[in-house]
This record gives sequence, C-alpha cells and structure tokens, in this order.
Amino acid sequence: MEDDTRTPAEKAHPGPATEGSAPVASSPTTTSAAGTNSSGPLPLRHGHELPFVAAPSSYLRPKPISRTMSDNRASGPLDKEQMQGLRGVREFLKVRTSYDVLPLSFRLVVLDNNLLIKKSLNILIQNGIVSAPLWDSQNSAFAGLLTSTDFINVIQYYCQFPDEIAHIDQFRLSSLRDIERAIGVLPLETVSVHPMRPLYEACRRMLKTRARRIPLVDRDDETGREMVVSVITQYRILKFIAVNNEQYTMLLKKPVRELGLGTYKDLATATMGSSVLDVIHLMVKYNISAVPIIDKDNRVLNLFEAVDVIPCIKGGAYDELSATVGEALSRRAEEFGGIYTCNEDDRLDAIFDTIRKSRVHRLIVVDDDNRLKGIISLSDILKYVLLYGEEDDDIRGN
Ligand code: AMP
Repeated sequence: MEDDTRTPAEKAHPGPATEGSAPVASSPTTTSAAGTNSSGPLPLRHGHELPFVAAPSSYLRPKPISRTMSDNRASGPLDKEQMQGLRGVREFLKVRTSYDVLPLSFRLVVLDNNLLIKKSLNILIQNGIVSAPLWDSQNSAFAGLLTSTDFINVIQYYCQFPDEIAHIDQFRLSSLRDIERAIGVLPLETVSVHPMRPLYEACRRMLKTRARRIPLVDRDDETGREMVVSVITQYRILKFIAVNNEQYTMLLKKPVRELGLGTYKDLATATMGSSVLDVIHLMVKYNISAVPIIDKDNRVLNLFEAVDVIPCIKGGAYDELSATVGEALSRRAEEFGGIYTCNEDDRLDAIFDTIRKSRVHRLIVVDDDNRLKGIISLSDILKYVLLYGEEDDDIRGN
C-alpha cells in the first residue's frame, strides 16, 4: 500500500488545485521568476509547468473573529482548549489500531530482496509508488523497507566510488546494507509494528526512529512466518486523524508562531540552478526529505523532495545528477500534488483542515511576499500532537 491509495475523504476533496493555488511557471510573470537564477535563465522543458503553489490559502487563514482569539494567546481558556484537543486526538490514537488506517481496498507491492536495484527503481516508477517493503524469500522474512533514502545512498556510493559505476547496475536490493556500510551511514533501524497494536504505538515508534513510514507486519498463525500487511505513512496517519477528529482538531486554535511548530533556523535551501547532486547532499547532511527552492530574494519557487530523486536516476542515469533542479523538477509526474504554504499566523486547526482536504506532505512557511520563513514537516505536526505537554519526552530530543 502506498500514498497513492486515497481514502474516500481525499477523493471528495481532490488535491490542491483549489482556490488560492496558482500555477507558478505557467503564467508569464512567474515563469520569469522561476526561470531566473544566478546562472541565468532556467532551461525548463518545453510544455513543463511548475507545480501549483497553494498560496497562504483562504482556508488556512484564521477568520477575523478567530484572529482576535489567537491574539489572546496567553489566555487560559485557549490553552485549556488546546490541551483538550490534543488529549482527544491522543485518546483516539490509543483506541484505534494501525490496521484502522488502511483504506478498504489497497494494493501492496513487495519486492524480493534478490531483485536488481535498477529493476526495483523501474517497478516503483511503473507503479507510481515511492517505497516498497522488501522480502527475504530465502528465509521467508520481512527484510526492511525500500525508500528514496536507499536510492540516495546508492547515489552517494556512486559519488564516492565513481569507478564502480559499471557494477552499480548489478547491485541487488540485498546489497543495500553493504552500500550503507561502504559510504559510512548508519543503517536505518528496521522497525515494524503489528497491525492490531494501537496506532499511538506506531506513531511513537515513527517519531523515535525518525521513520516517515512504518511497515505493518503480522505473523501467520499456521506457519509462524512473518507477513507484511501494508505500510502506513505519517501522511496517512495525519490524514486519518484529520478526517476523524474534527471535533478535537477544531480546538487547536493556537497559531504556528506561538507553538513554534516547524524549523525556522538554519534552513537548507537551493536555487533552480543548483545541481540535483548538491540538493541530495543537503538532504543527507540535514537528514531531511525536502529542500525549498528559492530565488535570490528568498522567495519560494518550488520544493525538491527526496522522492524527486527517483525519476532522475531512472535507467541508471547516475551521471545525469549534475542536471539542474529545474530540469529535474520538469520530470515530475503530472499528478504531482503541489506545494502548500502557510503563514506563521495560521492556526493548527486550519492546518488540519488543509490536511483533511488535500494531499499535504509538508508546509512551507512564508511571509506575505512569499519569502521563506520556515518549514513544517508532518513529523513536526505529529511530534507536537503526540508529545506536547507530555512528561515522557524521550523522543523529543531526537
Ligand atoms: P522531514 O525530513 O520533512 O521529516 O523533516 C525532519 C525535520 O527537519 C523536521 O523537524 C523539519 O522541520 C526539518 N526540516 C525539514 N526540511 C528542512 C529544511 N529544508 N531545512 C531545515 N530543516 C528542515
């Protein structure tokens, strides 16, 4: 199961092409902004449109009456309401299981560990998915999760050992751990949860390990062997919370600024003219899954996500990583969901409304001139919802 299986709620509110969203590069004015960078005009592919950027949208903005309430941020009732909302959501996560998050029907692509990495890439692309659980068929056991991080590791391997390019095509998924060792990255903990355990547990485990997705692994009663049931993502969990807890999320009236939600300092950014490889290095260095693409005035033009790496190396084209971000983004799938922005004065209840209605994977915080202020990832929201005001904060330091 992947993010492409939409819940009925998502189908009812398809995507971000809503009021307030504007195609960045398809209008003449913004084309020149998007195409201008320190190294000259951006060589955008003909016919390519940069994605929709949902400007601080009307539904993210507090209504005037609510603004007065958020201004009154030190007031006890608002704090109480906020805590009441958070407690409600936490209780919900404790009584629901990970299994509950799954849509009624979904597809699961599991890849054999013995498959060539190159082939696995094609399978992901053909199926329109960005990750897949791995299966060790020799031992009939779950063998981890293939994600864009693995492909980024292969790219790093290629950078460190360029002479190995001839062999890279022959690497199998089972060699991913060797690649991690060779480039000196710590292997990701292979965490999984039982589908019938409380959802709260899956969330805690995700926060603790910084995993953005977690496989649900059960055991067959008869054979005693592991079975991969599905994979749930932070995206799907937050959507599930938003769709089912409106009565609680509407109590989360504090603005982003007051909550300190997200990251505002030492932001990793790039320009349209940066090379894909440079952006990949930034993602590795900061351990992040997306880099805002800005112009010389710090205005947000786009976002390069870890999943954007996948089409770049399609067919083993590792040497094309010197291409610019602009070129790489032009290879994005047509159905790319768009970019969501918000303002520091937007409130968490409004953010949950957006999550409920759209395919939000993170929010870029901008000012009224679309200048970059910060970034709120789904892990930031999940962390706040689970841990704010909790005594037990062993995850917070991660
Ligand atoms: P993510 O990789 O999106 O799960 O984000 C992990 C953490 O890094 C979160 O606390 C984000 O706020 C932060 N973060 C995400 N993107 C960036 C970025 N481009 N620069 C700095 N921090 C970021």
